Amino acid sequence: MEERKNYKEALKAPIFEYITQAAEELNLNTYVIGGFVRDFILKRGNAKDIDVVAVGSGIDLAKKVASLLPNKPKVQVFKTYGTAMLRFQEVEIEFVGARKESYTEDSRNPKVESGSLEDDQNRRDFTINALALSLNKNNFGDLLDPFDGIKDLESKIIRTPLDPDITYSDDPLRMMRAIRFATQLGFTIEQNSLDAITKNAERIDIITKERIIVEINKIMLSPVPSLGFKLLYKTLLLQRIMPELTALHGVEDVEGQKHKDNFYHTLEVVDNISENTEDLWLRWAALLHDIGKAPTKKFSKKVGWTFHGHEFVGSKMVYKLFKRLRMPLNHKMKLVQKLVLLSSRPIVLAQEVTDSAVRRLVFDAGEDIDSLMLLCEADITTKNPKKFKKYHNNFKIVREKIKEVEERDRIRNFQPPISGELIMETFDLKPCREIGLIKDRIKEAILEGEIPNEYEKAYHFMLELGKEYNLELKK
Ligand code: ATP
Ligand code: MG
Repeated sequence: MEERKNYKEALKAPIFEYITQAAEELNLNTYVIGGFVRDFILKRGNAKDIDVVAVGSGIDLAKKVASLLPNKPKVQVFKTYGTAMLRFQEVEIEFVGARKESYTEDSRNPKVESGSLEDDQNRRDFTINALALSLNKNNFGDLLDPFDGIKDLESKIIRTPLDPDITYSDDPLRMMRAIRFATQLGFTIEQNSLDAITKNAERIDIITKERIIVEINKIMLSPVPSLGFKLLYKTLLLQRIMPELTALHGVEDVEGQKHKDNFYHTLEVVDNISENTEDLWLRWAALLHDIGKAPTKKFSKKVGWTFHGHEFVGSKMVYKLFKRLRMPLNHKMKLVQKLVLLSSRPIVLAQEVTDSAVRRLVFDAGEDIDSLMLLCEADITTKNPKKFKKYHNNFKIVREKIKEVEERDRIRNFQPPISGELIMETFDLKPCREIGLIKDRIKEAILEGEIPNEYEKAYHFMLELGKEYNLELKK
């Protein structure tokens, strides 16, 4: 008989003792399976969720465990799925009865019947997710690894336990999961799997947008997100999920004039920003910052390739894309829109830095000026080391200038020092056009640096403007 590997040291947390005791009392064979085992072997840090399989009723097991635990936690039962969940010491433990699944053509919801541990391992998506450790007294900690998942963990390979063509067709979400795990873990998807994903790509259409976005966001939050997007592109999934993005792919050449490939450029920008922020929405802003370039692309003999107004068009596309993909249409979406809209502004500044241009930038970006600078620095993808250095240096100067102007003029949360009410009161006006005009001219004068952002100076300037507009002071 082959030698059994044992991973007792993975099961030191007190919860496992309770599960073992409960399983013993109910006379159920019980195993911990999936992500917990995989991540222990990969040393990926402490688990936030643990999946437990019982050969028999997972719900009964959960209830028994809860009754043994000192704090008697509540058990959440999901009857339709035959699963139950409880929380102990910050960890979610999910219980399920071992099952056998069979699929029909038109749905990712299988017919389910109870089965053996082997049946349950067969229904798992990847060999590295099918690893199970015994929680039974007689062989506690023994590894059950029918598909050589350990070997795949060592050689960093994503492989399905059964025929990949059937696995992905049965539940197309697995295609997203394969690419997500490959990106998170830095693994390679085995060739048969990759071919099967490409073949089944159009079946992604039966998966809800919400579930697709969960996986996209996990790809986005990986150390090198471009790995995932390149796989999504190669397997034709991205073309279905985000055609706006894949429309940026390719280089056109007219009369020897080429533009850069904005798809690969975009992916570089996402990787760059990911080195400097964990913020999901800044990473989204990087992914979408050039999205308006496909619909605005033009060629003319005089100036070559242009993308006039792509920032504005792009920021409008952000809304449509978020809506279609069922993403939140809240302040996060607005932040992404704003960053896309402003994404070219600092670059112009990097050529010539003037105080008034910096003040305008800080005024328009407000609280998000630092995020905008992160995006623009990530946007530098030139392969010319001289230019690379020069652009970064210029942005350093812009950042210093921002600080300077900020300290002096406090523009970031600009509140006009003169209110409409004060203008009305001073000149005894009813609501009229002049009030807006005066307010605007005061704001402009501050941004241009003609007057400082101070009440006294602004009040004085208002009086002068009053004269200009022939307004009389209130008696
Ligand atoms: P993580 O929690 O880091 O996303 P995980 O492997 O724990 O990774 P879960 O989504 O929590 O992933 O799923 C738990 C386990 O359930 C997986 O390890 C896998 O064995 C199985 N599983 C999840 N989704 C599927 C699926 N679509 N098809 C087959 N098996 C799945
Ligand atoms: Mg999990």
